[in-house]
Amino acid sequence: MQGVSAAAAALLLLTSSAACADPLRAGADAVRERALADSTAYDLVESLSVDVGQRLAGTEAAARARDWGLARLKALGFSNVHAEPFPITAWIRGPEDAEIVAPHPQKLAVIGLGGSVPTPAAGVEGEVALFRTYADLLATPVGSLAGKIAVVTQPMTRTADGSGYVAANPMRRAGPSEAARRGAVAYLVRSLATGESREPHTGALNYQPDAPKIPAAALSVVDAELLDHLAARGAPIRIHLTLNSATAPATAWTIEGEIPGAVHPEEIIQVGGHLDSWDPGTGSIDDGAGLAIAVAAAKLAGAQNPPQRTIRVALFGAEEMDFARPAFAAAHAQEIPKIVLIGESDIGADRAVSVRLPAGSKDAPEIKTLAAALAPLAVFVSPEPSLGSGDDVADLIKAGVPAVAVAQDASRYFDWHHSSEDTLDKIDPAQLRQAVAAWATVVYVAANSDVDFRVLQAATPKSAP
Ligand SMILES: [Zn+2]
Repeated sequence: MQGVSAAAAALLLLTSSAACADPLRAGADAVRERALADSTAYDLVESLSVDVGQRLAGTEAAARARDWGLARLKALGFSNVHAEPFPITAWIRGPEDAEIVAPHPQKLAVIGLGGSVPTPAAGVEGEVALFRTYADLLATPVGSLAGKIAVVTQPMTRTADGSGYVAANPMRRAGPSEAARRGAVAYLVRSLATGESREPHTGALNYQPDAPKIPAAALSVVDAELLDHLAARGAPIRIHLTLNSATAPATAWTIEGEIPGAVHPEEIIQVGGHLDSWDPGTGSIDDGAGLAIAVAAAKLAGAQNPPQRTIRVALFGAEEMDFARPAFAAAHAQEIPKIVLIGESDIGADRAVSVRLPAGSKDAPEIKTLAAALAPLAVFVSPEPSLGSGDDVADLIKAGVPAVAVAQDASRYFDWHHSSEDTLDKIDPAQLRQAVAAWATVVYVAANSDVDFRVLQAATPKSAP
């Protein structure tokens, strides 16, 4: 035992002497340790869940969320706190209902997809054309689904990095127009979800301009499986579907605040999460957690000493229906040359796993320091360059702004995402703190060193890592 303690003491001495020799490392270590003991992120997501709740863009709840965001950023000491308004088309859900009417009546758990047109007041009824895969739907000839309700029951793959969701996304986003092009009168898709719940998961659709707009909804995973079993019996299945919704011109707001840089205030490290949520849950994991991680990380990274560069945080106002991304890019187009690094946290509340940084930066001495400071969290700097980050910053990244992406364990995220089960109880405070520590360490190093991702990325050929 004594030998082990001596070795541990020697290691600690080595570690601390290395850290002392490098103020960037010492600062990063201190930020990481403070973050692991800090409850700012949990307090934020708890308050957002309880004091605001669901906050669908364009609703009265979204205006309450705006006021909440302004008050919270001010209370945390951010400067220049303001709301940046932009116009949206609000989509408001009404009563929804679905049932099998033949071969025998059975209620189905469905939820309308965001942006879906309503059915006629009396609903639509049709024979089911069931596709076990999305590819099977796409292989069906145009016109062959006339009068039918197209149903796609392909399951989504559970992955730790969320790639199963990305792969399944076209089923929900493009499926309604693909079905309409083939003559369908309505579209049902198995929820883009892992887990075996009877709660359906919503999400936005994207109608294509060349196809009629048909009503579209997600089936719960278990109801999609019921239809698979029923279809295997061979008898025709008929479904009756009623979806109500309304649209209206509205305003959304991205809330911003900053910690001004003491040395290079014109150089910006931009992080954020999205403030809006879907309506069935409380938006605690999507994206209350991500927003809380970004705000807490920014706060912690600038808490001890003023950062050299400006740290800015954004709470994006309308991510789910795709409005915040172009609005934020348009509002900040003039700043593109000044943003040294940009990232968004939007993959839940579980532990951080790895960090992807802009091309050309992984061998920079400051990034070696960052990697060492992240190592105790069991977070590594990926050898792969960042290709993007959250959706709200995608247009600025496309315009050349260097991106940081912090991968979190998303294994459980899609069990609850976009459903009534996206609630506070799903958040593990210890994992949330670890994710904050990873983001805070990244923000600290980016804001307190001269590493210039703009230059390094520009000097790296596109194909090179
Ligand atoms: Zn999200």
